[in-house]
Amino acid sequence: MVLVTESLVRDLTEILSEQQVTANLTILEQHGKDESYHRPHLPDVVVFPANTEEVSRILKYANEHEVPIIPFGLGSSVEGQVIPYQGGISIDFQLMNKILEVRPSDFLVRVQPGVSRTQLNKELKKYGLFFSVDPGADATLGGMTATNASGTTSVKYGVMRDQVRDLEVVLADGRIIHTGNLSAKSSSGYHLTGLFVGSEGTLGVFTEMTLRVYGIPESIVSGRAVFPTMEAAVTTVNDFLSAGIPVARVEFVDAHSISQFNLYNQTEYPEQPTLFIEFHGNEEGLQNDVRFAKRLAQDNHCSDFVIENDSKKRAQLWEARHQLAYAFIHLSGGKKMMVTDVVVPLSELVGAVQHARKVIDETGLNGGILGHVGDGNYHVILMINPGDPNELAKAEKINAQLVDYALKRGGTCTGEHGVGVGKAKYQLKEHGPALDIMKAFKQTIDPKGILNPGKIFL
Ligand SMILES: Cc1cc2nc3c(=O)[nH]c(=O)nc-3n(C[C@H](O)[C@H](O)[C@H](O)COP(=O)(O)OP(=O)(O)OC[C@H]3O[C@@H](n4cnc5c(N)ncnc54)[C@H](O)[C@@H]3O)c2cc1C
Repeated sequence: MVLVTESLVRDLTEILSEQQVTANLTILEQHGKDESYHRPHLPDVVVFPANTEEVSRILKYANEHEVPIIPFGLGSSVEGQVIPYQGGISIDFQLMNKILEVRPSDFLVRVQPGVSRTQLNKELKKYGLFFSVDPGADATLGGMTATNASGTTSVKYGVMRDQVRDLEVVLADGRIIHTGNLSAKSSSGYHLTGLFVGSEGTLGVFTEMTLRVYGIPESIVSGRAVFPTMEAAVTTVNDFLSAGIPVARVEFVDAHSISQFNLYNQTEYPEQPTLFIEFHGNEEGLQNDVRFAKRLAQDNHCSDFVIENDSKKRAQLWEARHQLAYAFIHLSGGKKMMVTDVVVPLSELVGAVQHARKVIDETGLNGGILGHVGDGNYHVILMINPGDPNELAKAEKINAQLVDYALKRGGTCTGEHGVGVGKAKYQLKEHGPALDIMKAFKQTIDPKGILNPGKIFL
């Protein structure tokens, strides 16, 4: 039973200091929503722990009194993951934002969950290192671990799960465990780290993460390639990968999204299907790779292949790519974003994006396609008024059609955004009887169901 807010605040201020506990309405509202169309709901209280021991004490208390716990990073997730639909305690990690240790020779870093990806990269630059995963928002590493985030560089460096060596996790009953170690490989025991990554706050609360980092490549070249059709653009991605070109990023943006992008940024990019590309390597090798990539693109009728060597221009190019979702948001007069997130095997990608365009056009909604196509992952961004049942139904229909298309071809309903509440309805279809095993594991380590209830499972 959820305690009333007053007694919750009183009890929690015995565990933490008064400044670390609040039921202020503005702060509750900030912790009652994410960046999507999902209906907001307030937590009863928000707490700001400063260390692992405090998190452990909060969880012991919550478990004893059966109060829901909702870990909160930046709140940039898009499937309702942080929304406390059953009230409870939202744990905000902004005071736990320290980079605890950089181990350059081991290519490892140990961080608290409230560290943001740009904060980490700023520090790592001093060592000639970088952290590879880059979702669009300046998300926290705790949130990124909990959603198994990925982004533009995953085609080369992998997703969040590939970067996590060890997690310090506080379990529902307040116990503190480590799931891994510092070594590059291990055959010891079950792969608990892999299980906790992507668990969306439903299995435990992360208080420290040990992550892989990489040396900044000697040479980086970015560019843009413009194509007459989506098919030509996506086929080129396959050609790059088949040719073994060291692609570090390859992002597809459809013609409609480029038009939104031009309007928002006042640029004049050709409003045609476009690939944003980046290659990492050494200078000599990259010159050959870029020449070869250009030839492959031209074989697919690429009309414009623009290369940026200058680091400032490269940064602008990727900043612009990351601003794409915000272009849709700012141009759609208060509407909310529904973003689909399926992945298909690469051989199915051409058909998949063509299918996506067809189903968007059939509904007449404002929707663009973009994606981390080197991974077979693409998004449809739809701007909708969630209060309009007609628009919502159309958007949900598109989402369902794309999921169905992907699952029939061996794909998944979410490549990186996670399940939250938005994708819970597709879990049984995707996992079949394996879903019962997931539920059994959840029941074993969180028997009272206090950890982010109502997420992942219906
Ligand atoms: C414009 C835009 C573009 C985006 N692009 C991408 C993209 O390219 N790739 C991608 O992967 N995502 C993308 N996202 C989604 C989002 O940024 C990611 O899901 C991100 O990982 C969420 O991080 P966060 O810090 O905001 O976490 P939150 O939204 O605060 O939380 C996300 C989940 O993590 C849990 N959580 C948070 N901290 C902890 C902790 N310490 N311990 C346990 N659980 C915790 C929460 O309970 C919740 O379930 C995008 C979002 C936006 C708005």
